[in-house]
Amino acid sequence: MKAMEKLRKNRKPWGIRSQVLLGFGLFIVVILVLLWVFQITLLGPFYKAIKTAEVERVAQTLEKSLDQDSLEDTAKSLAISANTSIVISDEFGRPFVALKASEKYSRLDGITSGDLQNIYAEVNLQGGEQTETYHTQLFWGGETSEGILYARTLRTPEGNNRLILLETELTPVDSTVETLKVQLLCLTVVMVVLGVSMAFFLSRRISRPISAINDSAKLLGQGQYQIRFQEQGCRETAELAGTLNYAANELSKVEGLRQELLANVSHDLRTPLTMIKGYSEVMRDLPGENTPENVQIIIDETERLTNLVNDLLDLSRLEAGVVELDKTRFDLTSSIRAILTRYDKLADYSFPFQAQGDVYVIADELKISQVVYNLVNNAVTYAGADKTITLRQQVLGDRVRISVSDTGEGIPEDKLQDIWERYYKVDKEHKRAQIGTGLGLSIVRNILDMHGGSYGVESEVGKGSTFWFELPISPDEPALS
Ligand code: ADP
Repeated sequence: MKAMEKLRKNRKPWGIRSQVLLGFGLFIVVILVLLWVFQITLLGPFYKAIKTAEVERVAQTLEKSLDQDSLEDTAKSLAISANTSIVISDEFGRPFVALKASEKYSRLDGITSGDLQNIYAEVNLQGGEQTETYHTQLFWGGETSEGILYARTLRTPEGNNRLILLETELTPVDSTVETLKVQLLCLTVVMVVLGVSMAFFLSRRISRPISAINDSAKLLGQGQYQIRFQEQGCRETAELAGTLNYAANELSKVEGLRQELLANVSHDLRTPLTMIKGYSEVMRDLPGENTPENVQIIIDETERLTNLVNDLLDLSRLEAGVVELDKTRFDLTSSIRAILTRYDKLADYSFPFQAQGDVYVIADELKISQVVYNLVNNAVTYAGADKTITLRQQVLGDRVRISVSDTGEGIPEDKLQDIWERYYKVDKEHKRAQIGTGLGLSIVRNILDMHGGSYGVESEVGKGSTFWFELPISPDEPALS
C-alpha cells in the first residue's frame, strides 16, 4: 500500500495551469514556425512560381491569336497588364512583334535576327518550350536585375512556324523579406506576450473553480459533510459542484441517521438491560421480591430486547437484498385472523376485522404476517382513547387491500413521506415514540417492495391513521364462501 501511494505521489500528473500553458506555448511555437517558413524562406520560390505561371499564361493567350490580325493589339495589352516584354518571330528570326514592358533594362534589348534564329533552333530541339531565370549584374549603378526568360516554338494552324519569346522582370524580394522579418519579430513578441497572458487567464478561469471544488472535496473526504461547493465557473464545473453538493447532502443525512440510530439503539438496549439488571438484583437480595410479576417484567424486557435485535437484523438483511422470498399460496384472511388472536391478552383493546370471505394470495406468509404485525403494533402504540383498531379487507378488482385504522393522534401531513424511512420517528420526545425503534415501517416497506405490492397511509392529526397495503389476489382462488 505504502509503496503504491509513494508511486502515485511521484507520478503526480501536471496541473491544469501547466497543461494549458504548455498547450498554448506549443501552439504559438507552431504558428510562428509556420509563419517564418512561409513568409521568409518560401517567399522567393512562391513569387517565382507565380511569375512563371503568369508568363506561361501570356504565352497561351498569344498562341491563340498568332494567325489573327489582332495579334499586335493583344500583345500590347498583355505587355502592359502582365509587365512582360514580348518578341514574336518566325523560324528565320524575322520579328514581327517586339514590345518592351518598360524602359528598364531587358535581356531582349538589341536582340538580333541571328539570335532569334538560334533560339528558335535550340528551343525547337528541346521540345518547343524553355524557361530560364537569369540574374544579371547591370553595368550601371551596380544594380542587379533578375527575370524570367520564356521561349516557345510552335506551328500555327495556318502552318506558320513561330517563336514566342517573353521576358518578365522579377522584383527582388530581399527587401520585402527584410521588412517581413522585422514585422514577424514584432509579431513574435506580441504573440508570446498575448499567448502567455491568455494561457494564464484561461487556466486561472478553468482551474480556480476546480481547485475550490478539490479543496472542499478533501474536507468532505475527511467527514465534514456540511461543506458546500461553489457552483461557479464553466457549465461542467458548476454541474460537478451541484452533484457534489447533492452527494454531500445525502451523506450528511445518512450520517445524521447513523448517529441517531446509534443513540436510539444504545438507548433502547440500555433501558431494558437496566430494568433486567435492577429487577434481578432486587430478587437476588430480597427474597420476598421473588414474585411472578417481577419475573414477568424481566421476561417482557427480554422480549423487547429480542424484538429490537430482530428488527435490526431483519432490516439489515432486507436492505442488503440477501433475503429470498418463500412464496406460497395461502389464505391471507385466516392468516390475519390468526395474528389477531395473539392480541387477545390486550384485554382493553378491541380488534374488529371486516372481511367478506377469504382471499388467497401468493406471497411469503411469514413476511406478510410481519407486515400485519408491524402495522397492528403501531396502531396499538398510537391508538386513541377508544382503544379500537379496525382491520378491513377489501377486494379491488384483482387486488386485495388490507387496512389497519386507529383513532389516535394521527400523523402531520408533512411527515407522511418520512415515516417510511429507517429510524424515523415523528415526535422523538414523545413517550410513546420511545417505545418503538423507528424500524417497523421500513421493514414493512421493504417487504412490500419485494412483493411488488403497493402501500400507503391516510392520516389526520387528532383523528387517527389508516395504513394499508395491497397484494394481487391469487387468480385460481376457491369460490368465496
Ligand atoms: P416505531 O418503531 O417508532 O413505531 P415505525 O417505523 O413503525 O417505527 O414508525 C415510524 C413512525 O411513524 C413512528 O415513530 C410514529 O411517529 C409514526 N407512526 C407509525 N404508525 C403510526 C400510527 N398508527 N399513528 C401515528 N403515528 C404512527
